[in-house]
Amino acid sequence: MKLFDLEGRVAIVTGGNAGIGLGLAEGLAQAGAKVMICGRRAEANSAAVARLKATGAEIASIEVDVTSHDDLHRLFNMTRKALGPVDILVNNAGIHRGSPPESFPLEDWQAVMNTNLNQVVNCCQLAFEDLAGAADRGFNGKIINIGSMYSLFGSPNSIAYAASKGGIVQLTKSLAAAWAQHAINVNAILPGWIETEMTAPIGEMPEMLSQIHNRTPFKRMGAIEEMAGAAVFLAAAASDFVTGISLPVDGGYSVG
Ligand code: NDP
Repeated sequence: MKLFDLEGRVAIVTGGNAGIGLGLAEGLAQAGAKVMICGRRAEANSAAVARLKATGAEIASIEVDVTSHDDLHRLFNMTRKALGPVDILVNNAGIHRGSPPESFPLEDWQAVMNTNLNQVVNCCQLAFEDLAGAADRGFNGKIINIGSMYSLFGSPNSIAYAASKGGIVQLTKSLAAAWAQHAINVNAILPGWIETEMTAPIGEMPEMLSQIHNRTPFKRMGAIEEMAGAAVFLAAAASDFVTGISLPVDGGYSVG
């Protein structure tokens, strides 16, 4: 279906070597996109490339710390060289730090804000020219930012995480308003509770796990493969008149 066809498009997925990022990258690759994934761990990058190549799509990876401006320049330059100009940017890399607010370490605050929000601005700026040029290649440029349920709710022990993810929603709306004139769509996905390395510790917390299940209408956590459909929709022509939205993919957690 042309509406969901990404054949020939070039996508970057930050943090695409594991978890949700890998699920998003796989969806884009299955729809035909060439995908560059990045992360700090070389071994995770190689394993993810091997898995993604099974889709038959062109895949590349690069070791990058998204909080480094120099690394991000390398990411974009390497992507253009290896795959071509960027048509789709998925800002997924993220971290979580938990502490009570009254003693929340400033260095944790800065690490979370740098990884989850500040570098996203950087990536969007670095991608802008390529994304605006996508119109000459016959389609819209697409940005997909990854928020969280904590884009919507407060979280007592995760103040930096919630603030950074709240910021993602507002950044998404602002860029959407600014860049529609350049035929760039800017949207966000807000994942619910998804089984990844980040949420693995919850497996050891039966009370919390049962609270999550009880509150989620689908009565379970999600799998990374369940992120793919939203990514393909927001990357493809099907969403050309959709911009500035934050789409929960959460089994109903946000309405339960
Ligand atoms: P994981 O911890 O499983 O994966 C995080 C990914 O981000 C890894 O690929 C990691 O690669 C990369 N990453 C982290 N820091 C950096 C950095 N400084 N530079 C480059 N890459 C980095 O997390 P999830 O898959 O669970 O989360 C992915 C996104 O989804 C995050 O933004 C998270 O906030 C969000 N989210 C997750 C939810 C969940 O339930 N899992 C719920 C809601 C939102 P590497 O370590 O190699 O650098």
